[in-house]
Amino acid sequence: MTDIQSRIAAIREEIVKTCQIANRNPVSVNLLAVSKTMGVDAVASAIHAGQEHFGESYLQDARPKVSAFPEAIWHFVGGIQSNKTRDIANKFGWVHGIATAKVAKRLSEQREPTLGRLNCLIQVNLSDEDQKLGVNPDEAIRLAGQIAAFDQISVRGLMTIPAPTNDHSAQAATFRELRELKDEIESRYGLPEFNQLSMGMTNDFVEAIKEGATWIRIGTAIFGPRNKPPTPSTYTIKG
Ligand SMILES: *Cc1c(COP(=O)(O)O)cnc(C)c1O
Repeated sequence: MTDIQSRIAAIREEIVKTCQIANRNPVSVNLLAVSKTMGVDAVASAIHAGQEHFGESYLQDARPKVSAFPEAIWHFVGGIQSNKTRDIANKFGWVHGIATAKVAKRLSEQREPTLGRLNCLIQVNLSDEDQKLGVNPDEAIRLAGQIAAFDQISVRGLMTIPAPTNDHSAQAATFRELRELKDEIESRYGLPEFNQLSMGMTNDFVEAIKEGATWIRIGTAIFGPRNKPPTPSTYTIKG
C-alpha cells in the first residue's frame, strides 16, 4: 500500500466514525480527492485504492490527468475565467465554484448534450473577505433561481471555503449557515436536485460532516504538501 492509499483508508475510517457520532449514513458523504498540482502517478495510486472523484483547480495542470483517467469523475474546484469554460464544460462532471450567471450560462451553452447535464454548485462566501471568490447569501438565492433555468446545467447545491480557523465551534457555525441556506433555496424554488453541500477540507472536514457535508474536498491529508502551482499564465484566476 502506498502512503496515498493508506491516507485514503484513514480518511474513510474517519468518515465512518464521524457519521456514527452524527447519526448519518456514511454513503451520504462523498470523498473528493483534490489532486491539484499532483502528478499522474499520485492519481493512479488513489484510483487503485478505489477513489473515484478528483478535484482540480487549474485547467492546464488538470489536462494530463483528466486524459489519463477518463473513467474517474472530475470536479473543477477553482475559480473560472470565462475564456476557459469550454474545456471545463466538457471534461468535468461537476463544477464547485459557480459565482456568476455569466459563467454558468457559458458552461450550459458549451456542454455537449450527449454528456448529460453538468452538476454545478454555487460558491458562497460566508467569511466576508474581499479576496475570496463566491457570492453572499442573498446573491446565492438569486443566482440559484437564474441558473436553474439553463438547459445543460443541474444546480445541485452550495459550496464554501471558510476562513481558516482551528476553533471547532466557529467551523461548525459556518457550515451550519451553509446548510440552512441550502435548505432555504431548495424549498423556495422546489429544486429536487438541490441537495448537495460541498464543505470541509483537510483541517475542518470532521465538523463539516457533522453539519451535513455531502462532499468533503481533501487535498493535503491524501496527497501530502502540494507542489508549486503551475506558472501564473496557466492559472485559472478570478473571473
Ligand atoms: C486546494 C483545495 C482544497 C484542498 O485543501 P486541503 O486543505 O489541502 O485539503 C479543497 N477545496 C478547494 C476549493 C481547494 O482549492
